[in-house]
Amino acid sequence: MEEYFFQCPYCWEEISMLVDTSQYHQNYVEDCEICCNPIQVSVWSENQEITQFQAENLEQ
Ligand SMILES: [Zn+2]
Repeated sequence: MEEYFFQCPYCWEEISMLVDTSQYHQNYVEDCEICCNPIQVSVWSENQEITQFQAENLEQ
């Protein structure tokens, strides 16, 4: 597991999420810890490292 820091697409605060880097690709929804809005997260990992991370606004 790796802690990844990014900006929330709703409140633009920097937040962090724990990512399971043993999975090649994951797609899930997680609530922002600041504003509680649902964030669509897509993350790709390779060799236990995050290669790509997307955080999208679900309400667009
Ligand atoms: Zn937020």
